[in-house]
Amino acid sequence: MTEPDASDVHLAEPRVCEPRVFDEDFATALVLVAHPDDAEYGLAAAVAKWTALGKRVVYGLASAGEAGIAGMTPGTAGPVRVEEQRRGAAVVGVDEVQFWGFADSAISDGPELRARVAAAIEEFRPGVVLTLYGGAEWRPGAPNQRDHIEFAEAVRRACVTAGVPAFETSPDPTLVVDVSGYIERAVESLAEHRRYLSVLKPHTPVIEQARQQVRSATGPAGGFAHAVGLSELTA
Ligand SMILES: [Zn+2]
Repeated sequence: MTEPDASDVHLAEPRVCEPRVFDEDFATALVLVAHPDDAEYGLAAAVAKWTALGKRVVYGLASAGEAGIAGMTPGTAGPVRVEEQRRGAAVVGVDEVQFWGFADSAISDGPELRARVAAAIEEFRPGVVLTLYGGAEWRPGAPNQRDHIEFAEAVRRACVTAGVPAFETSPDPTLVVDVSGYIERAVESLAEHRRYLSVLKPHTPVIEQARQQVRSATGPAGGFAHAVGLSELTA
């Protein structure tokens, strides 16, 4: 094998950068998401680790996810999902869960939502804010939900204004959190969304759905067997 000469360098494939280890030197994390269960698709494994280390984690949810259960009216689904979210949060050591009452499926980045994010930052003074991925597609052909995209943008803008670093879960992460040892806790957390998941896939047991989802979201990365991938939202 020969070394490429200088004239070949610009033709080389871009080097894929290994993600760096996420800085966990914070006392309080604010996890902000659009819907119940958004935090449970992977991020909850990191939350389980952080609360086990004695950190304070608070959840803020824009909506109650009342439009999310097929065949159930919003008036019935909302309270079910709020209760499931509280249980799911408690499994990973989170007892402070706020629901802000924005309409599910109609979440938009605007002054009202940004003000609510700012108020939560003011109230809890987090060292970091985390949210769900707000990019257009999870992968080619797999579009993200409009609510997630709008919500992440509101979080980004509010965090820039407040000067708080914010991070999103990411299919192409630049940062990783080692969550080895916290996968089963995250599975149990997602499985608390029992009614939601049992309607979503009635023929697959809830615990199996939860295990598949969490494992696919916490695969090997950055040299860790199980990692949550993040990218900087406020960079
Ligand atoms: Zn969602």
